[in-house]
Amino acid sequence: MINERVCEGCGDCGDKSNCMSVQPVETEFGRKTQIHQPSCNKDYSCLAGDCPSFLTVEPGARTAKPVAPDLADSLPEPVLQVPEENFSMRITGVGGTGVVTLSQVLGAAAVIAGRHVRGLDQLGLAQKGGAVVSDLKISREPVQVAHKLAAGECDLYLGADLLVAADARNLAAAGPQRTVAVVSTTRVPTGKMILDTATSFPDPDGVLARIGEASRAGSGVFVDARGLAESLFGDDQFANILLIGAAFQAGCLPLPASALEEAIALNGVKVEANLQAFRRGRQAVADPAALRVTVDSLNPTESVSAAALTLSEILAIRVPELASYQNAAYAQSYVDFVEKVRKAEEPTGSTELTETVARQLFKLMAYKDEYEVARLSLDPAVDRDVKARFGAGARYVYKLHPPILRALGMKRKISLGATAKPAFTVLRAMRRLRGTPLDVFGYAHVRKWSAS
Ligand code: SF4
Repeated sequence: MINERVCEGCGDCGDKSNCMSVQPVETEFGRKTQIHQPSCNKDYSCLAGDCPSFLTVEPGARTAKPVAPDLADSLPEPVLQVPEENFSMRITGVGGTGVVTLSQVLGAAAVIAGRHVRGLDQLGLAQKGGAVVSDLKISREPVQVAHKLAAGECDLYLGADLLVAADARNLAAAGPQRTVAVVSTTRVPTGKMILDTATSFPDPDGVLARIGEASRAGSGVFVDARGLAESLFGDDQFANILLIGAAFQAGCLPLPASALEEAIALNGVKVEANLQAFRRGRQAVADPAALRVTVDSLNPTESVSAAALTLSEILAIRVPELASYQNAAYAQSYVDFVEKVRKAEEPTGSTELTETVARQLFKLMAYKDEYEVARLSLDPAVDRDVKARFGAGARYVYKLHPPILRALGMKRKISLGATAKPAFTVLRAMRRLRGTPLDVFGYAHVRKWSAS
């Protein structure tokens, strides 16, 4: 786990680990990094960097997250909008998220329904996070056709990942006269976004427009599959089956619901939850308002996005932080500077510049030196966060590379549990020495270099 307050979002842990579970996250204090726990395979390669943000956690007794109540199989029958005979589909997604399993479940459902199936999984050198494309052809009679879809041959274009779905090479199988697109809109970061902090997710409207142009106008179904799965079942691993439910209800899968549910059961993994994910996907198309009510009842508090805060709210968060960082005078100097900018901007009727200055000046003034890392590592929010994510009784250790051990030649981080807290407490109290001749950390090469 990464303590997001200590993290500066530099991207070094993504660079060192090349791991798709090390993901950017937008917070009130800017872009940070977090570990996507469901996909983490615990090789701990992200710990290799020189960063004090990391904790390793031994989970406690987790309180089961409330999940959506069971939905009965009473949804309306969809109106088919793809051919029942000689049906072709393409699934696109990223490796490690169950795209091939999805293809196998659909193939099994077709066989259960008495159809013939041809399939081709194009994994290339895909690994966790690499693009995966899976083609399926379903017919009533055995037919001698290529396994791979030709240009424009796709009836259903099922996009489990938005950016892979928008790739022109994959979209080549789609056609504006024939193809219906059913795509997850979840913003899943790419490897480049993890490695390069200057790269952010492209404009989703532009991405969706590319898919829309390549498929039948007005027929597409776009759902935040991972977001819904997380909200409804507390885990995004059900996203792909939820997407199948949406495609079925949109009339894009020429198979009976009973065959699809039987195939999900045959797959044998978390059967009840996957059946519910399938039905909730159907509901997302048949009755989105009812689904929204369920989602809202499970997630009553929506987080306020950083962009939505007013200037006074931005300041109300940051001024006490700066007072704790150093002292009240330091916080006042921040307020004075922001006020000067506000006055200069006032005649324009906008506060955009002032808000940007308030955010960026804080980032600059709350520089993460040793004292600040100590302060933020002792923040009670860390305990609350660990408990909320890993259950009551979860225990954690800080993964640190103390300068003294580094000077003695130790090349790796060490684990420090409760013993780190007295040292952090002393360090936090020493923040008054910051910038004075007694600030021993200020003599480090990296500190002089960054100050010059
Ligand atoms: S190396 Fe540390 S500071 Fe940089 S992104 Fe990773 S956790 Fe954040």
